Amino acid sequence: MGAAPREKGMDGCIFCKMVEGEIPATKVYEDKAVLAFLDIGPISDGHTLVIPKQHCATVHECDPQVLAETSARLGRIAEAVVAATDADGYNVLSNNGAAAGQVVAHLHFHIIPRKMGDRVFTQWPSYKYKKGQMEDIAVRIRSHLK
Ligand code: AMP
Ligand code: ZN
Repeated sequence: MGAAPREKGMDGCIFCKMVEGEIPATKVYEDKAVLAFLDIGPISDGHTLVIPKQHCATVHECDPQVLAETSARLGRIAEAVVAATDADGYNVLSNNGAAAGQVVAHLHFHIIPRKMGDRVFTQWPSYKYKKGQMEDIAVRIRSHLK
């Protein structure tokens, strides 16, 4: 009998393939738990993706330990991205589910360096709740957290 097979990433997942070294990535940081690399379609110079090496699709489906390890790296990586790009700030965001714009179904956090007045995001479409609606929604969310 040979050695036990090496644990591989999720079949067909491009980010797992990057972790496995099967497709190229412009890596900026790597350790046992996470990989960070430049987004191939940046919305600003230095736009970086941070992923757990262990496959999961979304924040809520991710093992809490894996999520904790991944998020624990965000600050240090963001600080380096900001320093390297001379940014004034940055957005950290994660699209979860197709409706939210998730294209790659392997959890990832975008770190997007920002310059003052860069107009990368020109709209934040906020609105006001109707009377009572805010408390109704909060009650529903709290009931799912019991
Ligand atoms: P999302 O819409 O949040 O799923 O974002 C997926 C991101 O992955 C997009 O910003 C893509 O530009 C990026 N992406 C897809 N393929 C690659 C790749 N091979 N290397 C680096 N970034 C990629
Ligand atoms: Zn994956």
